[in-house]
Amino acid sequence: MSIVVSDYKNICQLLEEEERIIVFGAGTFGKKLLAEIEQICGNLDKVVAIVDNEASKQGDLINGLEICAVDKIRNIYKKCIIIIAMKAYESVLRQVDNMPQFNGWKCCVYHIMNEGWCYSTVEELKYHKRINEKVITQYAMNIQHMNEREKVQLLDHKRQELRAGKHIIAKMVFIATNRCTLKCEGCLGRVPYFNDPKDIDINIILRDIDLFLQCIDECIAIEIAGGEPLLYPHLDVLLDYLIKSEKVLGVRLTTNGTVVPNETTLGYMAHEKVKVGISDYGMLDRLAQVVYSFEKHGVNFVFHSNMTWTDPGDLSKRNRSKEELKEQFENCWDAFNCKTIVNGRLFACARYARLYMQDIHNFEKDSISLLEYENLEERRNAIFDLYMVDYANSCDYCNFGTKDCKTIPAGLQMSTSFYRSAYTLVKRKVDA
Ligand code: SF4
Ligand code: SF4
Repeated sequence: MSIVVSDYKNICQLLEEEERIIVFGAGTFGKKLLAEIEQICGNLDKVVAIVDNEASKQGDLINGLEICAVDKIRNIYKKCIIIIAMKAYESVLRQVDNMPQFNGWKCCVYHIMNEGWCYSTVEELKYHKRINEKVITQYAMNIQHMNEREKVQLLDHKRQELRAGKHIIAKMVFIATNRCTLKCEGCLGRVPYFNDPKDIDINIILRDIDLFLQCIDECIAIEIAGGEPLLYPHLDVLLDYLIKSEKVLGVRLTTNGTVVPNETTLGYMAHEKVKVGISDYGMLDRLAQVVYSFEKHGVNFVFHSNMTWTDPGDLSKRNRSKEELKEQFENCWDAFNCKTIVNGRLFACARYARLYMQDIHNFEKDSISLLEYENLEERRNAIFDLYMVDYANSCDYCNFGTKDCKTIPAGLQMSTSFYRSAYTLVKRKVDA
């Protein structure tokens, strides 16, 4: 580590104290930052260089300043502050942090500072990216039906709670069953390959939910996952429990659209906390029945047609280097949005949880047993620590987060017992 992360509270404070600024990023964020500097200072005299890794941008001018490659500037200027003005800032942060020429230079991230967050270490920035940003994104999904003013106020309030140190987790997946009505070729968790697919005991799931919730202040969304979650015989009990929990702000379910739940379950599914996704894999007759029952009971659902999946690839070992695994883990959406709890264990991601259940993988550091921690603080630390690991060993058997990922059609079946229609359901624009 060579970079010093600066904890400026806002751009005005930074401009007051810094004389030489390098703007890293010549895209929308970079231009916005330059406009803000010009507005505050009246000119861009303090900006000594604009840097971008994209070769196609290098050589272009912004406000008379040439965009250049990082290699070009590192030996020219004396100590400056580097402001990273890019949404995907982590790779640039790693890049400058690993360049000895920048040893002792200050660095900060524009949009993080702009949102009122301030950090003084690379580790704190990492925590922000993996915990706080995910919380805000998931919370924005929970409140997307509200008007713009309400949304801004609520998001701001959530940011304040995080800044005040509230322990909030964005999303946790609880697997309820490994049974499924379908056999999808590209199933992420290889559910069709379970030898003896079973439901998880309801008392074990409720215990696990308690073990998790006891040591945090809030979870923005809990996802009940399968297999096919609507096959779970105690879904009503589970939904009732989660709906009543004040620490759980939202409950999510995704169904493959082949199972119509019973009336009691539909009643719970219609609660305002619950959001349901219906994946359209082409079983049109069943989809129609499911959509009809959801509409009739006022279930809040979204319908996903024409989906594609990202294929995680086979189970062979890729032999990636530690650096490659770190980058893959950082880039994998599931690594920070799909931590999964089942049978008392918290797993680095949902794919690994299912491979562990099938005795395919068992990597000591990719999961923790929640049952081992009686002390709440120790359990909480262990949970948050799993979010902060550099990489998971299971990533070496998966293509997510890498360029090797292929896109495949969603829900192609291994057997022909389900007829996959070429048609789909379309919502009317005007209620006839
Ligand atoms: S519907 Fe398909 S993808 Fe989903 S759990 Fe079942 S087999 Fe897997
Ligand atoms: S194994 Fe690694 S790359 Fe694959 S889904 Fe899990 S965290 Fe992501």
